[in-house]
Amino acid sequence: MTRPLPRHAAEPPPATPPPAAERQPVIRLVSVVKTYGTGEAAVQALRGVSLAVEERDYVAIVGASGSGKSTMMNIIGCLDVPSEGQFLIDGIDTSSLDEQQLAVVRNRKIGFVFQAFNLIPRMTALGNVELPLSYAGLRAAERRHRAEAALRLVGLTDRMHVQPNQLSGGQQQRVAVARALVTAPSLILADEPTGNLDTEASHDLMEVFDRLNAAGRTIVLITHEADVAAHAKRVIQVQDGRIVADRRVTAPGALPPLLNRPAVPS
Ligand code: ADP
Ligand code: MG
Repeated sequence: MTRPLPRHAAEPPPATPPPAAERQPVIRLVSVVKTYGTGEAAVQALRGVSLAVEERDYVAIVGASGSGKSTMMNIIGCLDVPSEGQFLIDGIDTSSLDEQQLAVVRNRKIGFVFQAFNLIPRMTALGNVELPLSYAGLRAAERRHRAEAALRLVGLTDRMHVQPNQLSGGQQQRVAVARALVTAPSLILADEPTGNLDTEASHDLMEVFDRLNAAGRTIVLITHEADVAAHAKRVIQVQDGRIVADRRVTAPGALPPLLNRPAVPS
C-alpha cells in the first residue's frame, strides 16, 4: 500500500481501521414505525425512527412520558418488533429471525435493567445473580464464581448472602445490574434505572454504568433526569415518536465524561 503523504517521524503509525463495511453498528434502526392496536384505537408510538449505535457508545435517551422511549428500548432489546422499517443487531436483520432465534440473541448479547428491580424476594443476592446462568448449562461452582465476580463489579461483595428486602433500593438495583452482567452481554439496556432511587443511590449506580462502559460495554439507557443523562457520551431526545435531537458529547471509544475511577460504591 502506498502512502499519499510523508508523515512526521513522531506521529504514531496510522491505525488500520477495518473497512467501513465491516464496522457494523451494534444497533441499527431504519425508519422504524411502531403502532399499537388497530383501527380507531391505533396508537403510533414510533413514527419513523432511524438510529445507529456503535460499539462502546454510552447513549441516553430522553424525552417526556409517552414519547416512545420504552417502545424504542423494547425493540432494541428484541422484546418487541417494529410494525414497519428495519431493526438490525450486529448487522443481522431481526426480521429474518424467528422467536427462538430472537431469544438467543437476547440472552447472548443483551443485559436488561429496569426501573423496578424485579429481584426474586426469597433468594439471596447471589442466587438472583446466578439465575440467568442456570439456563446456560454451567456447573454450580462456575455459576457461583461468575455471580460473585458480577457482584464484586457492582461493589456488593459484602451483601451477597442477604435477601433483597435487607438491601437498600440502590443496592437492589446494583444486584439487578450484576444479574444483567453475569452472562457477559456486550450491550446493556436500562429503562429508567434510577427512577426509583434517591440522588445518592442514582449517583452510585451511574458510577457503576460509567465503569462498565469504560470496560467496553455498550450502554443505552432511558432517563428523565438531566444529571443521569450527563453521564452519557451521546444524548438522544425523543418527542412524539420521533428523534428530535441527537447530541454527541464524546466519542464512542472515549472514556465516559463523568467517569470517576477510584470510587467503588460500598
Ligand atoms: P415512554 O417510555 O416514552 O413513556 P412509551 O414507549 O411507553 O413511552 O409509549 C409511547 C406511546 O405508546 C404512549 O402513547 C403509550 O400510551 C403507547 N403505548 C405503549 N405501549 C403500549 C401498548 N402495549 N399498547 C398500546 N399503547 C401503548
Ligand atoms: Mg417508558
